Amino acid sequence: MADAPFSLMSTQRDVKNFTREAFTRWLEHHNVAPYRAGQILRWIYHRNSCSFAQMTDLSKDFRRWLAGRLIISRLEPTQVQDSMDGSKKYLFRLEDGHHIETVLIPERGHWTLCVSSQVGCAMGCKFCLTGHGGLVRNLEPAEIVNQVCAVQKDLPNGKPLTNIVFMGMGEPLANYESVIQAIGTITSNHGLQFSSRRITLSTAGLVPRMDDLGRDVTVNLAVSLNAADNETRNQLMPINRTYPIEALLSACRNFSLPSRRMITFEYVLMAGVNDSPEDARRLTRILRPLRAKINLIPFNPFDGSPFKTPGEATIIAFQQVLVDRHYTTMVRRSKGGDILAACGQLRASKALERVTSQRERQAGG
Ligand code: SAH
Ligand code: SF4
Repeated sequence: MADAPFSLMSTQRDVKNFTREAFTRWLEHHNVAPYRAGQILRWIYHRNSCSFAQMTDLSKDFRRWLAGRLIISRLEPTQVQDSMDGSKKYLFRLEDGHHIETVLIPERGHWTLCVSSQVGCAMGCKFCLTGHGGLVRNLEPAEIVNQVCAVQKDLPNGKPLTNIVFMGMGEPLANYESVIQAIGTITSNHGLQFSSRRITLSTAGLVPRMDDLGRDVTVNLAVSLNAADNETRNQLMPINRTYPIEALLSACRNFSLPSRRMITFEYVLMAGVNDSPEDARRLTRILRPLRAKINLIPFNPFDGSPFKTPGEATIIAFQQVLVDRHYTTMVRRSKGGDILAACGQLRASKALERVTSQRERQAGG
């Protein structure tokens, strides 16, 4: 029997959506020895194999049997954009036609990969383009892991991929099960063998899920704080009305980090909204009980947004208040700003492209 045609394949189960345990159970249910699970998963994750036909240490009959029941999904970028600062932005088209983006960011001697966890986002943060579009759907574990597999297979400049950050599109803790499963595959021995100390998950502050996260995995935590008082944060991030700053910081205090690590607090600086020296002083006061470092992100503008990026002097003055109070503080210039690298912007430009080409077709016809 030849490999099933594509239309049939899409109804088959994706091996990359199984945990190792579930895959082992599935095989056992079909009277296949459990050790086969590891053998197959190693082909997939260690050798990036996407076809059972390549698995030459399995019998031909068994390979055909597997191909009739399972698929091994992968993502291929539909667009790769290079930025002047060396970052690369990958646009992936999912099976159902939606798009997600993944950004490869150069660091000294290595790469960091910024992955998406959802198509869109339901959190509705006012300064975020992804939030403006609302949630389309959660990503499956395979769709998260495949962002890593797709980029890792030909990394530019021969530099290794050493860090993965869940800071792309979506709120990772709102897609909890899939994100945890993806982290499991990315870190496990039969998976991509990544150190969990090299993974950072960024959240807008889904407090109950932060408690779960600290129990379920050992990864670094980043929290998008963006304001040091509830009144301002309520305006910027609707989630603050459910889990205000006090609840958020208490979850941070209870969070178990990899040893000696600090929580990163992200703070998008918006002119006249949250960028005064008093805001900076308030920030240092509320973070005092925590082991915290701070990433300042000058607001990345997009069409239709009411916010403005503060001037350079304001950014430096804000940073200085934090540094004077001994906080490790980085200003994260939006890498790849020249290719719209901020959260969600390439996907938005793709939607715009679709509308434009539709209009062109209509005008042409
Ligand atoms: N949902 C998660 C992770 C994705 S957002 C979270 O909110 O943490 C990743 C980061 O991008 C967040 O820190 C967010 O505050 C920031 N961000 C969103 N829109 C931005 C914009 N227009 N300019 C600068 N940073 C932005
Ligand atoms: Fe969602 Fe994060 Fe954007 Fe808020 S900042 S809308 S949580 S992706």
